[in-house]
Amino acid sequence: MARENGLQKSLFALLAEAHPEAIVTLQYQYRMNKDIMTISNTLIYDNKLKCASKSVAQRQLDLPHFQQALDSIHGGASCTKQSCWIEQILDPSRKVVFLDTDKMSATEERIMETVVNKAEASIVLQLAEALLLAGVPEERLAVISVYRSQLRLISQSLRGRPGVEIATIDKYQGRDKECVLVSLVRSNETGKTGELLRDWRRINVAFTRAKSKIIIIGSSTTLSTTALFGIFLELMRTNNWIYQLHLGAENEHTIQPPPSPREKRNREHKTHSPAEAILKNRPILRDVYNSSSL
Ligand SMILES: [Zn+2]
Repeated sequence: MARENGLQKSLFALLAEAHPEAIVTLQYQYRMNKDIMTISNTLIYDNKLKCASKSVAQRQLDLPHFQQALDSIHGGASCTKQSCWIEQILDPSRKVVFLDTDKMSATEERIMETVVNKAEASIVLQLAEALLLAGVPEERLAVISVYRSQLRLISQSLRGRPGVEIATIDKYQGRDKECVLVSLVRSNETGKTGELLRDWRRINVAFTRAKSKIIIIGSSTTLSTTALFGIFLELMRTNNWIYQLHLGAENEHTIQPPPSPREKRNREHKTHSPAEAILKNRPILRDVYNSSSL
């Protein structure tokens, strides 16, 4: 597969040649469970990484309120729940998921010099909200993308969730989270992936931040035009880690993200009756009003 895509040597071999001093024969790692580690082992490390213990290898996401979360997003929703994509993707036994958007209407849009993918942003928002409802604390969840414009869009919809970390890959170097959502953005007819997605060091950073679960969202036909993602998709296919999102998937659930702290304050303010608003900060008038209404 690597050769077919034009990679004559494994990335590990290239790295070993470029930086022989940095190469060790076997490396124990304490962060990722076995499935998540497999991505990096296949793309970069030639299977040289090992989990430091059994508990690291078997780590999985804890969803104490999974059922309540499902009940909540199905109130008045069109999803029949028989084959609910959110339920299937959240299942903690799925530790690596590639969400293929090819069957959705999820084409990228160019805004000025940059690229966004609104359907992907919507999927990210819905999964993040469902995970939070299911009991993942905000500070254990992160959303990563190579495109700042995409992160701006996602930050806007997750503004009521200030604990969720939303960052570019570069900001994420050396950090980790229990669960990570990665939005790859690029989806177009011509198979253009741009420089950012061809930078395998960056991609490796994105794929090695999660401890218990990683959900990667992208277009398999667009991504498969690059050598690295060709290998990645083959790995996903072999392990049955691809989930095909269907057309309209983003419109099937009722998910209301909470308002930002500021919007919440404004809303509370507006719920005062007009009389209360006038009387606020006017103690004497308030006394008169209160005694007259006795
Ligand atoms: Zn559903």
